[in-house]
Amino acid sequence: MTIGFHTKNGVLHCDGVSLERIARDHGTPTWVYSQALLESRLREFQKAFAKLDPTICYALKANSNQAVIATFAAMGAGADIVSAGELVRALSAGVPASKIVFAGVGKTEDEMALALDAGVLQFNVESEPELEALARVAKKRGQVAPVALRVNPDVDAKTHRKITTGKSENKFGVEIAHARKIALAARKLKSVRIEALSTHIGSQITDVSPYRAAFARVAALGKELREAGVPMARLDFGGGLGVVYQNETPPDLGAYARAVHAAIDKTGFGLVLEPGRWLVADAGVLLARVIYVKKGSAKSFAIVDAAMNDLIRPTLYEAWMAIEPLRPRKGAKRVYDVVGPICESGDYLAQARKITPLDAGDLVAVRQAGAYGAVMSSAYNSRPLAPELLVNKGKVAVVRPRQSVESLIGLDRLAPWQRQKPSPYLD
Ligand SMILES: *Cc1c(COP(=O)(O)O)cnc(C)c1O
Repeated sequence: MTIGFHTKNGVLHCDGVSLERIARDHGTPTWVYSQALLESRLREFQKAFAKLDPTICYALKANSNQAVIATFAAMGAGADIVSAGELVRALSAGVPASKIVFAGVGKTEDEMALALDAGVLQFNVESEPELEALARVAKKRGQVAPVALRVNPDVDAKTHRKITTGKSENKFGVEIAHARKIALAARKLKSVRIEALSTHIGSQITDVSPYRAAFARVAALGKELREAGVPMARLDFGGGLGVVYQNETPPDLGAYARAVHAAIDKTGFGLVLEPGRWLVADAGVLLARVIYVKKGSAKSFAIVDAAMNDLIRPTLYEAWMAIEPLRPRKGAKRVYDVVGPICESGDYLAQARKITPLDAGDLVAVRQAGAYGAVMSSAYNSRPLAPELLVNKGKVAVVRPRQSVESLIGLDRLAPWQRQKPSPYLD
């Protein structure tokens, strides 16, 4: 059986299951994930780095559904988390705390306490004030916090400006000279132990050269600090490997692995990697149904029932995402803006896109939607969150049901001074 998304009898399928059937059974908009493809991606990643025996910490923020995390946890993956919420998600999906790295520029003291109690592998600390806060929290609890100081290597990852993180003007990490000072000064702190360096230069990276430069700088600093008596045990090279949405040419795993090897071989350091997008992007689609086709003088609009509240990448990052009719109609391709029902001109999934003819009622799939899709959804325009489905070996499971309008409105309360008519939704 072909795994992932493929055409069978003229219709797009997921792991052998017809997406038309899924749309009929579960409605639209709906996220659909292929478990076989998720597993195959992680397996490939593990294989490419086998010689280095890394801790592979899946970056939860790309897709934090429990079923997705559990799929990876069952194969031995750890987790890269950025909040207390993600800590709970990782632990409850079966990721051992000893394989969890806690990243992010704004950890609160409460979050630090939770992660210390859980016993995470390391805190990726991004500033001096954060290190001081962590030292305070750990000291109060009689603990020693394991730290990977996040270095900003000042390289241009050549990706979209909203997802580049390794330039000195970005908010992430500390510059190399500053990192050296912090790490040397921290030797006298008893409640934090800087035992690693981390870096993450951005996302959707399609060129291997910024990786090479960043890894080399971080490895050199690691060696220098080790010689100065800092107990450096490992390097964390982050994530960011790009995928193909349209015609990008990201480095293949082999080239990426060679860049990692070049920096880490013969150093004796352990390795942590934090892949997100690469593991999940291809393994998901967003299914939507065409509500109307509106013909204008300049172009046609295909108005679908998925919108920017479901999938914000096109409008937030100017991201190009493939849109495929599940059962393409015959006839020459036409040019459409594929838009949602939301009252914003930014509400589009694609602009000026050539697609086979669309008609009301047609089903389409937005491809490569497994990463930074469902996790970034909102209920804007009071559109309940779309369900998430996991397909495996011919079976379909709802791994997050469609949100009900009642549950959406039911979180609101009238203030005590507001006269209230009895409402079935409000307590
Ligand atoms: C987002 C993020 C990742 C994962 O990035 P991808 O581009 O999804 O691989 C890894 N590490 C950190 C610190 C991140 O913020």
